[in-house]
Amino acid sequence: MSARVLIVDDVPANVRLLEARLSAEYFDVVTASNGAQALEICERADCDIVLLDVMMPDMDGFEVCRRLKTNPATHFIPVVMVTALDQPADRVRGLDAGADDFLTKPVSDTVLIARVRSLTRLKMMTDELRMRAVTSHEIGIQGPEREAIADNGTGGRVLIVDDRASSYERFARVLSAEHAVDVEPNPAEALFHAAEGNYDLVIVSLGLEGFDGLRLCSQVRSLERTRSVPILAIADPDERVRLLRGLEIGVNDYLLRPVDANELLARARTQVRRRRYTDHLRDTMQLSVEMAITDSLTGLHNRRYMESHLATLTEQAAARRKPLTLMMLDIDYFKSVNDSYGHDAGDDVLREFATRIRKSIRGIDLACRLGGEEFVVVMPETDMGIAATVAERLRRCIAGTPFLIGNGEKKIDVTISIGLAALGSANAHDLLKRADQALYQAKRDGRNRVVAAAA
Ligand code: GH3
Ligand code: MG
Ligand code: MG
Repeated sequence: MSARVLIVDDVPANVRLLEARLSAEYFDVVTASNGAQALEICERADCDIVLLDVMMPDMDGFEVCRRLKTNPATHFIPVVMVTALDQPADRVRGLDAGADDFLTKPVSDTVLIARVRSLTRLKMMTDELRMRAVTSHEIGIQGPEREAIADNGTGGRVLIVDDRASSYERFARVLSAEHAVDVEPNPAEALFHAAEGNYDLVIVSLGLEGFDGLRLCSQVRSLERTRSVPILAIADPDERVRLLRGLEIGVNDYLLRPVDANELLARARTQVRRRRYTDHLRDTMQLSVEMAITDSLTGLHNRRYMESHLATLTEQAAARRKPLTLMMLDIDYFKSVNDSYGHDAGDDVLREFATRIRKSIRGIDLACRLGGEEFVVVMPETDMGIAATVAERLRRCIAGTPFLIGNGEKKIDVTISIGLAALGSANAHDLLKRADQALYQAKRDGRNRVVAAAA
């Protein structure tokens, strides 16, 4: 997929120059000649990255950037400031406005393309996460954008990998003003250290003695535990080519020596903030996935999950010629629990019932609340004989120990009925139906009992 780059500059010649270079690399290009236009295009989600001129009449680039980064609808779009200003103080100002990087005119082709590539890669990844998190928004989980905008990027955990004492001591001193900093002077230990420490940022000096700093960067990228940690590389001015290589393998940002203290702080904040944002996105997504398949009252799987998973389990069992038994459980006279003690007491009973089910089954068994006071347990690699034993044990575990309700103030007796069905040649739907019929039979036979469906 080709990324869409928005070029913003009030001088048409500048726009055309960048446009030609990016088009030659097969990027899709849109252009704007002022800030207002740029904001509008971004708001329509019509671009993946913004190359932003600083000096423009009306609204300057700093202001455009600040607006983009404080709007939840555009905050995640990477912004690269492109400018003739080349003092560290200018870069810091841009980074403080939320810019992801700063390129100085005249812009070198290779640096431009490398930056645009690495930032759009990052954008695609966040897009993917954001897309999945959208469903969570629909079920009422707050997205992480507002928090991310309020995050000033300080208070992170930073690891510095550098073997020159004069250098790492200075970095550590500077960064300690805003973060918790660890130093690893031994490059051979660095990967292990990074994996153990749960860092928000790893800073790697590329000029390590007898050790390839880029190799370390690539290892950090490929290790599961450190895959999403941002990497900031520090290099000498004559190492530009290696830096470009670094951006290709996943280095997020870099600084050239001599390192300006304020710029180091600003770039570290940017990376820490972005790391927290993607972490939150990932958590939100995880949570929404869990909510979509979990019954909120009992924490067991819900009907939707059971139905999709049961099909897989029965197919597997059939293919491997293994037995599988399904147990359907229903609380007896549950309506009278609600009627006598209230709905909250009924909920207490349901939760405790779920806990007892969990305790009596194995890890590979699948327990779900179908709805109301009806539950299902699917037991793979279990024949009817064993399933009947498990069901009987569970029945006794319910009937034998009263349930506590209303903060443990009261004890009530609860019983359940269970219907069992073993997987024959039939499908999941039929299996459920036969278990349900067996349960119905158990109710008719007087409740508080287990009935197995005929094979
Ligand atoms: P049987 O022995 O035949 O199963 O009788 P029963 O009373 O258990 O069955 P019935 O289906 O008549 O009633 C089920 C009751 O479960 C009715 C409903 O109010 C209650 N119920 C369903 N979901 C919930 C819930 O989430 N919380 C509570 N407290 N009650 C629920
Ligand atoms: Mg019932
Ligand atoms: Mg019922």
